[in-house]
Amino acid sequence: MTSSLKERLNYDKTFDCVQCGYCLPACPTYETMEKETHSPRGRINLVKMVAEGKASVEDLKEPIEKCLGCMACTTVCPTNVQYGEIFEGAKRVIDEERPRRLVEDFLFQSFFPSSKWMNTLGNATWLYQKSGLQKVSQRFGLTRRAPLQIHEFETALPAMPGPKARRNRADRYVRKRPASAKVGFFKGCVMDSVFFETNQNTVELLLRSGAEVVFPEAQTCCGALHAHTGKVDHSVELAKQNIEAFEEEGFDYIVNNAGGCGARLVEYAHLFDEGTEWHERAVRFVSRVKDISEVLAELDGLVFEKELLKTVTYQPSCHLRNVQKVTSEPLDLIRMIPGVELRELERPEFCCGSAGVYNIVNYEDAMDILDVKMQDVCGTGAGGVVTSNPGCQLQMKLGVAREGLEMEAVHLVDLLMEADPRPKW
Ligand code: SF4
Ligand code: SF4
Repeated sequence: MTSSLKERLNYDKTFDCVQCGYCLPACPTYETMEKETHSPRGRINLVKMVAEGKASVEDLKEPIEKCLGCMACTTVCPTNVQYGEIFEGAKRVIDEERPRRLVEDFLFQSFFPSSKWMNTLGNATWLYQKSGLQKVSQRFGLTRRAPLQIHEFETALPAMPGPKARRNRADRYVRKRPASAKVGFFKGCVMDSVFFETNQNTVELLLRSGAEVVFPEAQTCCGALHAHTGKVDHSVELAKQNIEAFEEEGFDYIVNNAGGCGARLVEYAHLFDEGTEWHERAVRFVSRVKDISEVLAELDGLVFEKELLKTVTYQPSCHLRNVQKVTSEPLDLIRMIPGVELRELERPEFCCGSAGVYNIVNYEDAMDILDVKMQDVCGTGAGGVVTSNPGCQLQMKLGVAREGLEMEAVHLVDLLMEADPRPKW
């Protein structure tokens, strides 16, 4: 049965908002765009008006598309408004009214969910870097003509491993001695393509912590990008595929290392009606989902002895912090490395402007938000930024380049591996 507009917009949830405005100072787009319609309260009001027929879906479009989905508003809301569900409903209704685009359909239906396409992307990028084409195109500004500021993003990409490294990766790392935990590794789509080395480092940290690690073959994209662009039904199908893929073996943990993916995985139970078989299966799945920092802290199996002599700050992924509620573990892990001085941000809760594909489709707005973030980063006097999400890492690299700084931006996992920890047991 087709649901009504009110149901699709989660109209009933908009009544939880009491219009207090506590969320306004927490909202990056309200701060940088200075419009009520671009605040959490304003967006909720607009959704309510569209559901009641007092405003059109067209009126909703810009304010919702300029929302980062960072969920900072939900952390300060006294009435626990389920903004994420309201936001997702609004995205869905906007997407329903848009004309279909073949390229977009291909990207979401075939490209992101396919390991083969992701490997091809990684290998093509490796060839682009390795052949010297990247240097030539940067030298002569060839990519400047490419759309969506691709020239800026491609300079921030990490060095890719070759096809052999991808081919040779095992899908099962077992131990001769009893394991401290059995981990099902959620490899992600872009993460495993562009940040393959970070995935490999994650596996290595788990192995040194005494765990065994398995990559279930049938896993697919988490569906975050689909949900955040309104393709809710497709994201539910991906969720089902992942739930099934990780049911096959008795995993203690389902581990990921990308804040954005992890936030989607922990929301799987909300996608199904309570009392249904899929809801039960999703609840079991979610109970085992953990970020890598949580698992390393729980296993407590690493000893750090090598000194790194760095001063760093930590930029948390909004989705790790605000949705998964993981805050202290990454900081504790950084503090475990001898020689590393951690200088915390004044406003760690403020989004960096990456937000999935936000910085690609809303480039100018994302850069305004990034500039606010970089003021905070520079204020710490740190020589490096540690992040817990690939999108944040690329965005911080862009921020460093915009400020003309010599500063590294690394994933937490890569920093930990640089310190070459030993197994404790
Ligand atoms: S803090 Fe919560 S209740 Fe208050 S205006 Fe914002 S969303 Fe509404
Ligand atoms: S999700 Fe982030 S950008 Fe969107 S309304 Fe909430 S605080 Fe503002």
